[in-house]
Amino acid sequence: HAAGSANIGVVGLAVMGSNLARNLASREGNTVAVFNRSPEKTDTLLEEHGDLGFVASKSIEDFVASLATPRTAIVMVQAGKGTDAVIDQLADLFEEGDIILDGGNANFQDTRRRERDLAEKGINFVGVGISGGEEGALKGPSIMPGGSAKAYETIGPILASIAAVAEGEPCVTHVGEDGAGHFVKMIHNGIEYADMQLIAESYDLLRRIGGHEPAQIADVFAEWNSGELESYLIEITAEVLRQVDAKTGGPLVDSILDQAGSKGTGVWTVQNAVGLGVPVSGIAEAVFARAVSSKPDQRAAVRATLQGRPEVQERTDSFEDDVRKALYASKVVAYAQGFDAIVAGAAEYDWDIDKSAIAKIWRGGCIIRAQFLNRIVDAYAKDAGITTLLEDDFFAAAIRDGEDAWRRIVATAALSGIPVPGFASALSYYDSLASERLPAALVQGQRDFFGAHTYQRVDGEGTFHTLWSGDR
Ligand code: NAP
Repeated sequence: HAAGSANIGVVGLAVMGSNLARNLASREGNTVAVFNRSPEKTDTLLEEHGDLGFVASKSIEDFVASLATPRTAIVMVQAGKGTDAVIDQLADLFEEGDIILDGGNANFQDTRRRERDLAEKGINFVGVGISGGEEGALKGPSIMPGGSAKAYETIGPILASIAAVAEGEPCVTHVGEDGAGHFVKMIHNGIEYADMQLIAESYDLLRRIGGHEPAQIADVFAEWNSGELESYLIEITAEVLRQVDAKTGGPLVDSILDQAGSKGTGVWTVQNAVGLGVPVSGIAEAVFARAVSSKPDQRAAVRATLQGRPEVQERTDSFEDDVRKALYASKVVAYAQGFDAIVAGAAEYDWDIDKSAIAKIWRGGCIIRAQFLNRIVDAYAKDAGITTLLEDDFFAAAIRDGEDAWRRIVATAALSGIPVPGFASALSYYDSLASERLPAALVQGQRDFFGAHTYQRVDGEGTFHTLWSGDR
């Protein structure tokens, strides 16, 4: 291969990078340079997919030399230190006007730092959120690029060519400057946590109150997947529940240890939202639910204290339908909160984010892809300035329709001793927004009592402090 023959390069050929490289190479007009620190992964890619015409290098110098100028390279390595190491190597060899994309799961604050540092050398750095796992990387992910609008002019068409397509449109948009892409990817993952938790609670209710076996619940989810809940997560839930364990012959879900892990993006979402003052309670409850599940000692200790359990309530005729409605209403809340976090992040970091466009690029390729997102696209297209998705006509009606069922389900779960942190906190959040008066007035009084923090009055301007009666 001639030097400078590749229009794009990929560094990092583990599962994500090699699949992305294959995706790129299979598109008309692309010649893809590839490099991996240890040569074995490069060799494997060439052995298995050499027909895609990769330009492979054994050194980072050769890799850079194989790129046409201005150079464009996608870094797809371990987030954190690995990414910094590779970026440093590239930055030493790249020149002004070249573009480095980081497609890993970077913390958006790292992305902001990296962009600032590279800008000093005139190198364009673009943090790109990529969702869809390995299959998405290969067949079409949802792509959330940040960085400068100028860099997007160059890389936009290439990213569009490898992205998933939803309703005829590629699932990619320029999210905003610097770390905006990785921020929005982080929120995507947070919403994913909430959605999964709500589905898991639905399953638990259908099983323990509904009395259904996993295979029957799979049928229920499959049916839900043909309605307003249609989504990738509902679809795969049905498949997981249908899976039979080769070892026991029973449902596989019963053989899986009930301690959920996480890789951290949900935690990042909650940490950042707390800092921004956004109540992402649905995401937080999902993160906490995984944490509680992973405390076997505490779970065993509390179980040992039990003297019987509450009686599981009788299922009503409308039970399955009630669960579906509670799931939908809670899901609306979780997404509304996620978009609130995007709005707050955009304000804090000065990003111009088109919320409708974000909902659009989540319709395909990513983990939370769903029919439902079309409604969010519409809501923000109609009025980008709504204070919460819950005020949009469609969502307001959806909550009204499901409200009674939602309350019945939360009450029934509580009486039955079945944890529904997602459903219950979503309902409390909704009831908080819907209340004429909140006990926050009392909290303000308490704060003024012990700390002279002052309060405002309902009947006039100004700040007030009361000389609380002095019997103390
Ligand atoms: P990974 O297991 O996260 O990382 C392994 C890759 O990083 C290997 O190519 C490894 O090279 C390279 N690497 C690590 N440290 C390095 C260093 N100091 N210098 C040079 N190379 C280094 O790989 P992955 O699962 O394919 O994920 C890649 C990125 O995509 C990650 O940031 C991940 O968070 C993100 N992501 C993953 C998914 C997913 O579903 N897996 C989805 C979206 C995003 P060697 O072969 O030489 O060790």
